[in-house]
Amino acid sequence: MQKEIFDVVIIGGGVAGLSAALWCDELGLDAILLESSHELGGQLLWTFNAIENHLGVKAENGRQMRDIFVEQAKERKFEIRLDTIVKDVDLANKTVFINDDEAVRVKAIVIATGIKRRELNVEGEKEFRGKGIISSGKKEGKLVKDKTVAIIGGGDAAFENCQILSEYASKIYLIHRSKEFRARDEFVIPAKENEKVTLLTETAVEKIIGNNHIEALELKDKSNNEIYKLETDFVLLRIGVQPNTELFKGQLDLDERGYVEVDSRCETSIEQVYAIGDVANPASPTISTAVGMGATAIKALFSQLKK
Ligand SMILES: Cc1cc2nc3c(=O)[nH]c(=O)nc-3n(C[C@H](O)[C@H](O)[C@H](O)COP(=O)(O)OP(=O)(O)OC[C@H]3O[C@@H](n4cnc5c(N)ncnc54)[C@H](O)[C@@H]3O)c2cc1C
Repeated sequence: MQKEIFDVVIIGGGVAGLSAALWCDELGLDAILLESSHELGGQLLWTFNAIENHLGVKAENGRQMRDIFVEQAKERKFEIRLDTIVKDVDLANKTVFINDDEAVRVKAIVIATGIKRRELNVEGEKEFRGKGIISSGKKEGKLVKDKTVAIIGGGDAAFENCQILSEYASKIYLIHRSKEFRARDEFVIPAKENEKVTLLTETAVEKIIGNNHIEALELKDKSNNEIYKLETDFVLLRIGVQPNTELFKGQLDLDERGYVEVDSRCETSIEQVYAIGDVANPASPTISTAVGMGATAIKALFSQLKK
């Protein structure tokens, strides 16, 4: 097995990982950043709205902000490996396994793996990805012109997409498993007043049905357990997010939702293993916090290694 030795390995090349990498160079730590995707940026790559709440930089969308961050990070000295999925980790022995026959041995590990959209885990979900399941109202709105769309979810993101898609779709069903919506009134009230929109509460999706493309959903009315079919051409899921922490389960402390637990220095329950950004911060998943946690972790780590 090929082994490489660095001071720090950073897992994840989103905002948090980039901030940590920049700070490693700032403090003279030898770092390698591993990113599973073919480009850096994480969630910024799926943000199509303007970003105006990160001090110092405004951008028309996530990609534009990503380009600014990446340009600055690339002026710094650290190794970047794209298309590199971390498949296993031995946190206690500070070893990260990548590809089939490669391991990275380090003094410290920084987990910056972020979050992913929660899935429904029902029949048809994988099959109809790209065949009726759309990923963004803003990006794919035109696809649903004069068609029916079912949006699954009850938070701000579901209602925001409802607002966007109602410009194009002929009919929208917003399907939510609970009685009450989590979304703010500023989103819910316009949806209730929109003739194109029907809100279905206490309703669970059991199955996604179709042939080459989505044709219908099998739904369960949770108030009486009745199962019925609802015809739709498209589906958009906004049922929340979950942290990318499967790799670390059983090795460090996670909270009940699977987020990594850290102290005020961003250190986890294992010494010299840090976690930063959304993966460790359900309370404030923002660009500013991810940037700040990157700096905090590397400053703390630097002091620890100096001892
Ligand atoms: C639609 C949308 C709009 C938003 N708007 C705003 C806003 O206006 N203002 C704001 O402050 N924030 C906003 N946010 C939130 C903000 O984008 C995030 O808080 C921030 O980008 C989190 O960065 P991160 O690095 O922690 O995680 P992520 O961006 O999730 O990055 C994690 C990275 O880790 C990689 N990874 C995961 N697992 C592995 C593995 N096993 N091996 C290798 N790599 C791995 C992933 O591919 C990803 O690139 C928005 C988010 C979304 C989705």
